[in-house]
Amino acid sequence: HPLFARRMGRLGVPATIAMAQRARNLRAQGEKVLSLALGEPDFATPAAVIEAAHRAALDGQTKYPPVDGTPALKAAIIRKFARENALDYTPAEIMVSNGGKQVIFNAFMATVQQGDEVVIPRPYWVSYPLIVRIFGGTPVYADCLEADDFRLTPAALEAAITPRTKWLVLNFPNNPTGGTMGRKDLEEVAEVLRRHPQVHVLSDEIYEHLIYGGAQHVSLAAVAPDLKDRILTLNGVSKAYAMTGWRVGYVGGPQPLIRAMTAIQGSATSGICSISQAAAAAALDGPADIIAQMRAVYARRRELVVSTLRCIPGLTCAMPHGAFYAYPGVAGCMGRTTAGGQLLETDEDFAIALLAEQHVAVVHGSAFGQGPYLRLSYATSDEILKEACARIARFVEGLN
Ligand code: PLP
Repeated sequence: HPLFARRMGRLGVPATIAMAQRARNLRAQGEKVLSLALGEPDFATPAAVIEAAHRAALDGQTKYPPVDGTPALKAAIIRKFARENALDYTPAEIMVSNGGKQVIFNAFMATVQQGDEVVIPRPYWVSYPLIVRIFGGTPVYADCLEADDFRLTPAALEAAITPRTKWLVLNFPNNPTGGTMGRKDLEEVAEVLRRHPQVHVLSDEIYEHLIYGGAQHVSLAAVAPDLKDRILTLNGVSKAYAMTGWRVGYVGGPQPLIRAMTAIQGSATSGICSISQAAAAAALDGPADIIAQMRAVYARRRELVVSTLRCIPGLTCAMPHGAFYAYPGVAGCMGRTTAGGQLLETDEDFAIALLAEQHVAVVHGSAFGQGPYLRLSYATSDEILKEACARIARFVEGLN
């Protein structure tokens, strides 16, 4: 249609959204659908955070805020980076956006154009390649395999880099696999990056607090301070503080990049919701035990889901070390036929039939670039998880 810009042809509908729509359609027909499809904490935002937002609104913090973030929130972010990531930033090196997503959009709009390549470890969060493509860039994938615990290996990274590479996206703990990268893994990545000075890094650390088994998250910019000028360290309050609806993300990085991203945001949205910024500052400065409590609950659910899935013949499941996703393999179910008569040729067939026959919504791994897998979010109640896993078991047992 002549109305639409050429870039719309590059957009497509993310499979995650298509699957959520299928689940909604089924619910609208009155069916009880159990959803493990959503990457969203089921906890409530901490009450103290909501009270801080209320106070800010009554206090008159209801005017246009600065484009790059309120001084109070930027100060809280600087304290957070120093305390939790051993990273020192000045206020000019920090900006606040409408969720981590707008940070990515700003960064790529400011830098990516036709001919530029962005290396994205695969499987990936769907928004990275979509945003790269909107701006005419080319995603280049580096495979992260189950055999490597879904880590990015230096060899896979090296093979993906060309003279046209502008960015590497790192997302650990990872959505969708739950994979993590320790200090040694990041040192190896840094070694590769030192050989390729044209490559910048968007390090999306939004799941940093969700690491299990006592391990600690480390930031690439802290592991390789000599590369700090080439690294954007992205984070946000959505996952750590159960604040997805408040839309606050933030980033630390080199001043020229932050300045360019701020210019773009000024034209797109202006500064983000002043009340949300006050809430985010309260969250970052608030007690850390809130995060530890949520992590303990996720850890229990992780055990529950992984141990149940591993008992289902035909499924495999690596232990995810972080985030709140399990990524079971369904290769053993391919080529078989469901109780409802559907032939399963792909993981998407599996996900669609599972929803239709057992009313459990999951997202197929090939939607994130690597199949045949499923992504199950365990950011939901134990009760729903138990029932959903029982239904998955029934579904697989019914295969012929
Ligand atoms: N990065 C990853 C890997 C995510 O999974 C998400 C949300 O699903 C985000 C960033 C963006 O979150 P928000 O825009 O809510 O900060």
